This record gives sequence, structure tokens and C-alpha cells, in this order.
Amino acid sequence: MDTIPVERIRNIGFMAHIDAGKTTTTERILFYSGVTYKMGEVHDGTAVMDWMDQEQERGITITSACTTTHWKDYQINIIDTPGHVDFTAEVERSLRVLDGGIVVLCAVGGVEPQTEKVWFQAEKYRVPRIAYINKMDRVGADHFDVMEQLQTKLKANPLLLQLPLGTENDFSGVIDLIEMKAYRYGSDLLGATHEEVAVPAELHEEAELYRERLVEQVAEHDLEVMEHFIEKKLVDATMLRAGVRRVTLELAAIPVLIGSSFKNKAVQMLLDAIVAFLPSPRDVSAIRGFSPRTGEEITREQSTTEPLAALVFKIMSDTYMGHLIYFRVYSGTMKAGGVVVNPILKKRVRITRILKMHANKREEVKEVGAGDIAATVGMADVSTGDTLCDERNPIILDAISFPEPVVSATIEPRHTSDHKKLDEVLDKLKVEDPTLTVKINRETGQKIVSGMGELHLEVVRERIRRDFSVETKLGKPRVAYQETIRKVARGEEKYFQQAGGHSQFGHVVLELRPTNGADKLRFVASIKDDVVPRRFHAAVEAGVREAMDFGFIAGYPVTGVIVALVGGSLDEENSTELGYKVAASMAFQKAFQAADPVLLEPIMKLEIRVQDDYLGEVMGDLNSRQGRVTHLDNRHGLHVIDVRVPMSNMFGYATALRTLTQGRASYAMEFADYAPMTDEKMQDVLKNQLGIYSLN
Ligand code: GDP
Repeated sequence: MDTIPVERIRNIGFMAHIDAGKTTTTERILFYSGVTYKMGEVHDGTAVMDWMDQEQERGITITSACTTTHWKDYQINIIDTPGHVDFTAEVERSLRVLDGGIVVLCAVGGVEPQTEKVWFQAEKYRVPRIAYINKMDRVGADHFDVMEQLQTKLKANPLLLQLPLGTENDFSGVIDLIEMKAYRYGSDLLGATHEEVAVPAELHEEAELYRERLVEQVAEHDLEVMEHFIEKKLVDATMLRAGVRRVTLELAAIPVLIGSSFKNKAVQMLLDAIVAFLPSPRDVSAIRGFSPRTGEEITREQSTTEPLAALVFKIMSDTYMGHLIYFRVYSGTMKAGGVVVNPILKKRVRITRILKMHANKREEVKEVGAGDIAATVGMADVSTGDTLCDERNPIILDAISFPEPVVSATIEPRHTSDHKKLDEVLDKLKVEDPTLTVKINRETGQKIVSGMGELHLEVVRERIRRDFSVETKLGKPRVAYQETIRKVARGEEKYFQQAGGHSQFGHVVLELRPTNGADKLRFVASIKDDVVPRRFHAAVEAGVREAMDFGFIAGYPVTGVIVALVGGSLDEENSTELGYKVAASMAFQKAFQAADPVLLEPIMKLEIRVQDDYLGEVMGDLNSRQGRVTHLDNRHGLHVIDVRVPMSNMFGYATALRTLTQGRASYAMEFADYAPMTDEKMQDVLKNQLGIYSLN
């Protein structure tokens, strides 16, 4: 099979507030575009995009998988985007590889808090969007009200492209304002066929009016349509469609479609709109990276004529295949059997197989070209965010950044016989999910998992149970603090031990300095070879790293230190790697304790949107949580508060805000950075945090 021309690829993602109908809509799209033959219903639990049982149970989609389908000579790659705030990293990761988005809204619920959150994330990545107002069949459905909310709550410029035929229960199809034709669905139950009907006489005037308004709105941002509009010439369907496409790609407006996915009405028109208005990879600006040889910036067109550059954006463990590695090709062509380079690992790898994932089957292909997404298997130690590229033209694409985990909890198997299995499972999950970390407390031996929030850890536990049949107990979630130092200090340790005829010797002097927030660790060994020979330096660094896993204030990981090996000695007969490693760990501990250590706490960045009436309550509450307001904006009576608050004061905030404002506020929260604590707070934390990490 030839690779598909890049102009005919659409990489898209559905974004929505939970329950708006994202899953149902995706399902219908896969059905109409011929991938699934039996329509799965969310409530039957057979939805194809819901790969994992628990997603169906919770009604949220957690893992982003990519599914390929076809519509009228176009290839559509659907990248699944999760909806919950705790999975911000997943959302950002998806936004990185998709080119266009469909925001699914409920015709009754309208713009909800999570809609706002994903909307602003999409704005940040400049992703062109279509809005789809679903559930037009519901009692109380009001697409005009939703249009208004798009304007007021999201400051969007919505372009209504359709009017409904019938309301609520009688909703049976749409009038297409671009073509001025009406389409009725429902002669068969699955809505796979529809009939074109005349625009009903009683709606004709209204349709004319809305078409004129549409032309006017497009003309405001598009030269070609404007010229016709001013000269009062007819703007025909072809010209209007092209105009809508241009203003959408420029992010000047959002086309709005309506439908009822559940009742199988007008979903095909959404497919048409995806193809007509959302960008192909070619419409998106050139991609950026840098040369691993020179560090210079490189830009590439998304074209098959350029050398290969692909980005690994997701790794999923698969029962049959081991790991499935999802990648997007940005330039060139990836060929099965070919050799590529992973410049971050400095490794050559052979691409054995290339798979296109469809909803219910996988298809092996020979190659994938620029702009397309596929998966491969059998690649050891690749990580999310790695680049795969042409050997002769190496490039490292801008990596996806993942926030630091902010919540930790102990985890242990319910049955002691499952310890080994749990370790294996956690190893697998870590590869899939870069925001999940697992550590063992060296004193208590407890396993500690850390992630993006309470729900994130819950979901991990649930997956371990469902997919790997290991029952576990999760401790109470705690804030994931870190430890660092505030001044320069030295530590020395001479280690010598004799056991069973073997001796171990190591002697080092380490000097620690704070990096003030930059790297986790910078290790330098500027020392003469006859003091501590080069062959032991790696062991010294390993000893330091091991010591840093659990710090010495309260066992939290250490960060932000420059460690210099500045002294020591050699014992020609007894020096060993193990000896230096142990000595380094102990010297690090001494130096750390002398270097004015401090606990760092995660600070969250919040954007809160609140109506006038509740501003006082919300601000007062933020104050009591030690929030620091960084920006306050008033947009037509809607206040937008940017604030920074310690994570430890944010447990249960969703409920608190709802109670405080009777649901008239929404917020989005993400990790900002780690900041040193005051001594007073540190004492407090140390008193209350015993249990998960033990005190020395
Ligand atoms: P998601 O959470 O956004 O993925 O939403 P789902 O697709 O799981 O849908 C949530 C609920 O709304 C389910 O019970 C669906 O059956 C229902 N639903 C979805 N689309 C429609 C629709 O067009 N009309 C009506 N009445 N219900 C719908």
C-alpha cells in the first residue's frame, strides 16, 4: 500500500467534559467510517475506544490510544484524549501530536468546567477546533444557548453551520447552511442512510438569515469572502466552505455543528466537517528540533521528501505484543525493516514491524510517511518523548515535558505471595506512564508510588487489579515533597571492610552545592587520578544517586545539588567499586546534613473562573489556603483568578469550591514548581508525615 498523501491525513482528538458524549461520538464515527461493524453502546460496555474496563466504569477515558479510520479518501487518525484534570500530562501529550480538535458539548449542559480546561489547553497549543453540540434530542436542548456560552465563557467566535430539523425528541436532522440543503436521518435505525430533503418552507427565512450571518462572520476575517460580500455577489458553497476552512485554521473562528450521536443523527456531517475544516499535517507549521551533534536548531517541513524524524508519544503494554510504541512521523518515511537512530540513547535500532491500529484489528504496513501515526514493537529501552530519525540526518525533536509527581502513597500486595508480580507490573506501568514513579523506602522496605494526583494513583491500582489480577492496598495519599540544600558543605568517609578473605575499600571527600532549582544532580569529578582513579568515578556517582533516592530530612528524594568529588585516597590492594559506592553514599549523607537541608513542596498553579457574586468567598478561601494571587482579570463580570497554592492545601478543593459558589465557578489546576518551605511549616510536616517515609 502506498503511503497516503499528507494532505489527506487528519490527526484529530475529541475533547470534552465527562458525559458530553465523547465516547459515543467516537464510536459512531468509527462505525460510519466502516471500522466497527457492530455499534457499541457505552451502556452495554462494548465501546471500542474504551480499551480498559475501568474507563467504562468511571466513564472517563484515561489512556490515549490512536485509532485509524477512513472517510471519503481521507485517513483520520483519532488520538484519544483523556478528560480528567489529574491526567494533564496525558492531555498535553495528545495535544502535542494532534493537529485538530473536536470539542464535544452537551446541548443541555453547554460549556462545563472541563470543557473550559481543555479549551484553554488547545488554545495554548494553537490547535484549530470544531465544536459539536451533541444530545440535540434531549429535553431542554438549546444550541443557541450553547453558542452564547461559547462566546461568553470561552471568548470564542462560533460559526453556526447548521440549524436543527425538529426539536428535542423530534430532532431528525439538520439544515446545512453552507449548501442550503436539509438532511433527514432515521429511515433506518442506525442512521447510516439519510435523505436529502428540501429546506422546509417554514424554516426557509430563518435559514437564509443565518446563512447571511455566517457569510458576514467569515467575511470579517477572510479577504476573499469579504470582497464578494462587499460587492453583494453570491458567496457560493465552495467559496464559503473554503473561507470557513481558512478562518478555522487561523484560529479566528470555530465552526459549530449539531447532532445526536446516541440517536445516530447527523454524525456523518461531523466527519465531513473534520475533513473539510481541520488541518492536514501540511497546514501546520514546520517542526522544530535540534542537532545532537552541534546543538543548532533545525526546522523541517512535514513532507516525505525530508529525512526521517518521528516522535514516540506513547508506550502501552500489550498482552500479545509486549510493548506497543506509538509514534508520529513528522518528516520522511518510516520503513519496516529499516534502521533508525535514537539520538537520545545514541543507539541504532531496526524497525521490525509497523502496525496501524484500527478499533478492532491491527494491520501490518510496510511504511508510514510524514504526518501519519502508527505503532511498532520490540524496541527495548525507548521512552516517551524520544526521537527516531535518519542516521545521516540526526535530529532531536522538542521533547514532551512531563510534570513532576506531586502525590505519593504506599502500595503493597494484599497477598504476600504477589510481591514479585507487583514489582513486575509496576515496572511495566512505569514505561507506559512517565508521570508514575515507584520507589522502595530503604528503611521500611515499603513500595511507594507517586503520581499526578489522588485519582491517578487510584486508577493505577485499579489497572493492576483488572489487567494483572494483583490485589493491592494503597496507603493514604500524601504530598510528594523533595529535599534539597541551601549551602555548600563537605563530607568525608573512609570505608573498609573485610569479609571472607575479600576486602572492600573506598575513601572519598564530596563537596555539595545547591543548584538553586536547576538540575536534579550534576556530578563532577575534578580530581587527580592517583587520589581516586577514574575507574571508580562511576561507582562514586552511583553511590551518590542511591543516597539521593531517599533524603535525610524525612526520606524524600533529594534534588538540586552539584556534587563534586574533591578528595579521597586509593588503597592499591583493597580498593573496590563497591567500597567507593558505599563510601560515597555515606559521605553524601554527612555533607547533606551539614548543608542546611530544607524540604521543598509542590506548588500548584490554578486558574479559577468565578462570577461576580462569589468573588469574595473564593478569594477568602484562597487566602486561608495560603494562595498567592498572581493575576486577576475581569471579563464581562467573569473573574479569572491566577493563583499559586501549596499542593498540601488543595486536597478536596473541587468539592470546597462547588459548595462555596453553588457550582458557579470552575477551575483548572496544574503543577507549577517546587518551592522551599518555611522552617515552621517543615516542623509541622515532619510531625504529621511520619509513616510513609521514616525519619532518621
Ligand atoms: P463521555 O463521557 O463524554 O465519553 O460520554 P459518553 O459517550 O460516555 O456518554 C455519556 C452518556 O450520555 C451515555 O449514557 C450516553 O448514552 C449518553 N449520550 C451520548 N450521546 C447522546 C445523545 O446524543 N443523546 C442522548 N440523549 N444521550 C447521549
